[in-house]
Amino acid sequence: MLVSAKEMLQKAKAGKYAVGQFNINNLEWTKAVLLIAQEYKSPVILGVSEGAGKYMTGYKTVVGMVNGMMEELNITVPVALHLDHGSFEGCMKCVEAGFSSIMFDGSHYPIAENIEKTKELVKICADKGMSLEAEVGSIGGEEDGVIGNGEVADPKECKSIADLGVTMLAAGIGNIHGKYPANWTGLNFEVLAEIQKLTGEMPLVLHGGTGIPEDMIKKAISLGVAKINVNTECQLTFADATRKYIEAGKDLSGKGFDPRKLLAPGTDAIKATVKEKMELFGSIGKAE
Ligand SMILES: [Zn+2]
Repeated sequence: MLVSAKEMLQKAKAGKYAVGQFNINNLEWTKAVLLIAQEYKSPVILGVSEGAGKYMTGYKTVVGMVNGMMEELNITVPVALHLDHGSFEGCMKCVEAGFSSIMFDGSHYPIAENIEKTKELVKICADKGMSLEAEVGSIGGEEDGVIGNGEVADPKECKSIADLGVTMLAAGIGNIHGKYPANWTGLNFEVLAEIQKLTGEMPLVLHGGTGIPEDMIKKAISLGVAKINVNTECQLTFADATRKYIEAGKDLSGKGFDPRKLLAPGTDAIKATVKEKMELFGSIGKAE
């Protein structure tokens, strides 16, 4: 059964480790993440962007697939199904479809409107026993290659959003979605420390986990980050393994064209990446 991310993240924050959010795109992705979480006894968050939700034909399909898979695979570790960067409308759809967690990305609204909409969702999530992630100070995008920095959040704004009763808070600290530009100046730990000081027990979320050096990840966890989002890295390893399979001509020999064979190396590559991240974040064995 899907659970809210609240308990797993509070435990992570208290235990100084982080739970990975791995974004899913299809059945292979979902299967890979769930199997590794179960094998290594780690809590896990399955992230679904609005685009990925649409790709999988809608949120109800995603809920049906994940619930069915958890039952068929006997998944017993805590799993949250989470909307990533949701609009207000997207959040409402996921509440209805049976997600156990949502992120409302109100970072592009003026702070007053972000607060108003977040308040409404806090109420709904409390009623449904769901977790809610809010964002302050938008996170740099992959088109930001020219600029060396992602956006940095204002710690006071973080405090005002945290006080509304959200479960976890994403704050830009120079992190970027997608691949990091060569002139990236790194995470802003002074701001992270300030945010943690003002928001206390609130689990903090680090977006754009792909390509942040390991020592920076560890330092971020020591400063209160309890959830780290991984998306691009699984896409890169999946594509790389699939390309190798095709380039080696394996789809042309025997029944190598069978999608169950064709997609297997990519699926295994996702598994390896997920395991590596869980090790780095320290979440292995925490679901025992
Ligand atoms: Zn993000």
